[in-house]
Amino acid sequence: MSAKPLTDLSQLCIHTITTKPWPIETAATRFSEAGVGGITVWRDALAGRNIRATGQLLRDENLTIVSLCRGGFFSHSEVSGRQAAIDDNRKAIDEAAELGAPHVVLVCGAVPGQPLTESRKQIRDGIAAVLDHAEAAGVKVAIEPLHPMYADNRSAVNTLGQANDMAEELASLWVGVAVDVYHLWWDPTLEQEIARCGKNGNLTAFHICDWKTPTTDFLNDRGLMGEGCINVRQIRGWAEAAGFNGFNEVEIFSTTYWSGDQIVFLEKIKHAYLNNS
Ligand code: ZN
Repeated sequence: MSAKPLTDLSQLCIHTITTKPWPIETAATRFSEAGVGGITVWRDALAGRNIRATGQLLRDENLTIVSLCRGGFFSHSEVSGRQAAIDDNRKAIDEAAELGAPHVVLVCGAVPGQPLTESRKQIRDGIAAVLDHAEAAGVKVAIEPLHPMYADNRSAVNTLGQANDMAEELASLWVGVAVDVYHLWWDPTLEQEIARCGKNGNLTAFHICDWKTPTTDFLNDRGLMGEGCINVRQIRGWAEAAGFNGFNEVEIFSTTYWSGDQIVFLEKIKHAYLNNS
């Protein structure tokens, strides 16, 4: 069953990378003025800033801090690389705690030429190694499966089924799963895997945008909801049927939109959210 249309922006969250040309302070003011309910912060947006003070600034703008993006990249051919990733993920968890974000999204990693099974084992072990730290900080980590076109170097976790398997194997209150329609819309088992994810208490985040035809860049040509072939409202309905009632996070990497007026883009996001999500 499809979800009911959204009638207000209270559950709308926008990622800082979506309006990348704006410094986080500008994004916070603009989002708040537009009535947007939440913000997900990318770590690069925090560069050179006091993280605690930035978190306070966002809350002062009445924005809910939904998550910190991103940790992960646990796969490496060398032990030293895997240890460096674990250290960096502990740091990301600390940053989320300082900011006041309840979870860190994980782009899990992959090594070109290394079997995906081996990468997934390294990812699982890497996540397991940071769980004590996550618990102590009170910050969850959320496994985000990525579209298989990124299986070479970004993530060996490519289906929601694989993410669910891993989260269930780790069996921790501090591990969840992030569902991104861009990565998962094509999967014939998506409805049942979303249901499984919710049933097991792992559905932590929901990311939306659209898949344009043709897609001219594998990374930076994401579309606004309604510009492509993803039935966002149907997938949102599956997430809500699985018990999800959190924010709908607009995460768009687009050289086209980044090169335009961000105020106009924000209006388009609001329109697409209310009409096509
Ligand atoms: Zn995402």
